[in-house]
Amino acid sequence: MKLHEYEAKEIFKKYKIPVPNGFVASKPIKELKTPSVIKAQVLVGGRGKAGGILFADTTKEANQHIKKLIGKKIKGEKVNKVLIEEKLPIKYEYYLGITIDRAEKKPVIIFSTEGGVDIEEIAKNTPEKIIKYYIDPQNEFLPYMARNLLKEAGLPSNRISKVADIIYKLYNVFKDMDGTLVEINPLVITKDKKVLAADGVLNVDDDAEYRHDYAQFESYSEKDKSEFAYVELDGDIAVIGNGAGLTLASMDIVKEYGGAPACFLDIGGGSDKETVEKALEKALEKDIKGVFINILGGITRCDEVAMGIVKAYYEHPEIKFSVRMMGTNEEEGRKILTKNGIPFESSMEYAVEKLIDMLK
Ligand code: GDP
Ligand code: MN
Repeated sequence: MKLHEYEAKEIFKKYKIPVPNGFVASKPIKELKTPSVIKAQVLVGGRGKAGGILFADTTKEANQHIKKLIGKKIKGEKVNKVLIEEKLPIKYEYYLGITIDRAEKKPVIIFSTEGGVDIEEIAKNTPEKIIKYYIDPQNEFLPYMARNLLKEAGLPSNRISKVADIIYKLYNVFKDMDGTLVEINPLVITKDKKVLAADGVLNVDDDAEYRHDYAQFESYSEKDKSEFAYVELDGDIAVIGNGAGLTLASMDIVKEYGGAPACFLDIGGGSDKETVEKALEKALEKDIKGVFINILGGITRCDEVAMGIVKAYYEHPEIKFSVRMMGTNEEEGRKILTKNGIPFESSMEYAVEKLIDMLK
């Protein structure tokens, strides 16, 4: 489960990691006391580039930004809240992250002096600027280890102790919270030499729920709603199937015909109209261009699936749909689709080919 930035920062504060002064709002505010940054609270990275990070000097300006952001979608995610923080006079921006390296079977600290931008970009352009430090989970992680890794990263010695202190504390957040990823990007040094977490990401391990009170976090209820397996991907064609194997095969075919899957979404067996509607809602949260639905009717009835597709089809005229279904109640399903003008094929290859053509 992913926590929002404001929630991550609340936890950082408990661990005495310095964060900018700020507060959360979901409607216009009475007064802005200092020049501020208004940050959309959505669970995606790169909000800055997507227009989710705005600056304001006056109350009027702040309220214009708040009105603009609330209810808007940033990278397909609806903004319900903004975090308003004092604007920092940033001098340096570093990247700091901790995650589990599955191959090494250890937590790894990742640090770079080239922060602010996506870590993927740093990895691509200046991989030598990324320092990794593997933690032996059997032993204690000690502050001197954080200092050593910063020396290796080439950080000037007068900045090392404050940044090392944050690394040490952040590792404790990661460990205590059963984190799968914790990130501060950027970790900033201000012109007046303060070191702060200007951004915060904290993802926690769902399997550790019994040890925590995850229900306190905003995204908890959303997590519970999904009855299907959903994995977000980089492309623009949502791939929906019933059964993991069929959905994977559907992704392969989309790729083979030159498309790029936007998600893997397995609605499972026996889905009814409502589940299919919810699945499409989920898939359509992202900015996508097409939807490929591939159903093998067994306990899943093709007519139920077809009925579930109709709503999204009318609500999203800008998106191309292509459906392949066969099996139980195929004829009834086909009738519903054809009546509504939804492209339908019995062969998955044809269905995908048709979709890719429509998207050209
Ligand atoms: P992200 O785009 O979702 O990662 O959002 P961030 O919180 O990391 O903000 C993106 C960028 O906005 C940062 O890398 C900074 O360059 C800039 N930014 C954020 N907060 C401040 C601030 O208080 N002062 C200044 N000068 N820049 C900021
Ligand atoms: Mn960031």
